[in-house]
Amino acid sequence: MSFREILQDADLVIPDGSSLLWAAKVLKKPIKTRVTGIDLMQLLLEEAEKCGWSVYFLGAKHEVIKEAVSLTRKRHPSLKIVGYHHGYFDDDNLILKDIKNLEPDILFAGMGAPKQEVWLTKNRDRLNCRVAIGVGGSFDVLSGNVKRAPMWMQNRGLEWLYRYLKEPSRIKRSILLPRFISLVLKEKIRNLKGEKTL
Ligand code: UDP
Repeated sequence: MSFREILQDADLVIPDGSSLLWAAKVLKKPIKTRVTGIDLMQLLLEEAEKCGWSVYFLGAKHEVIKEAVSLTRKRHPSLKIVGYHHGYFDDDNLILKDIKNLEPDILFAGMGAPKQEVWLTKNRDRLNCRVAIGVGGSFDVLSGNVKRAPMWMQNRGLEWLYRYLKEPSRIKRSILLPRFISLVLKEKIRNLKGEKTL
């Protein structure tokens, strides 16, 4: 399955990026605001604590995930974190067995895109959780190792700039930006000509 097919097959895909808001505006799609993986995860954790849903954290480095679990337990004392594992494993079977035994309601997979989406799709039938969701670098944030941009930057769609300044190595990801812009503009031209759209 290609990454595109994985996204199209998902029950929920959230617009976690200012570039998507720009594309939505150009293509007149009804996306009004960013919804980040970390914001959605934090809301789900609150909800899970209230409703008694159990959760499993999968991803990030060993020390990071341990810190993320420990800080989350402090923030949400009644939340059932039934298990966790770092995201640098070779043997899928061990992880799948652990998750199967613990039967979490929600599995949060933070192994970066597209690795987490590919892994969740490949193992979907062997995961007996109700919801499985990719959350990128959220465990780095929950552990306190990565700080989010100040609110004024988030509100102005500048979180990407903050992250580039903090982690200059992320700049190599922007290599795909010109291709993204050209695809959006080509789609716009097709729309204007009344041709079939994506
Ligand atoms: N990661 C992981 N396993 C891997 C590669 C990455 O668990 O094989 C983790 C990494 O430690 C980090 C997260 O995945 O916590 C990726 O964070 P990033 O902000 O780069 O996510 P993205 O922007 O790709 O969603």
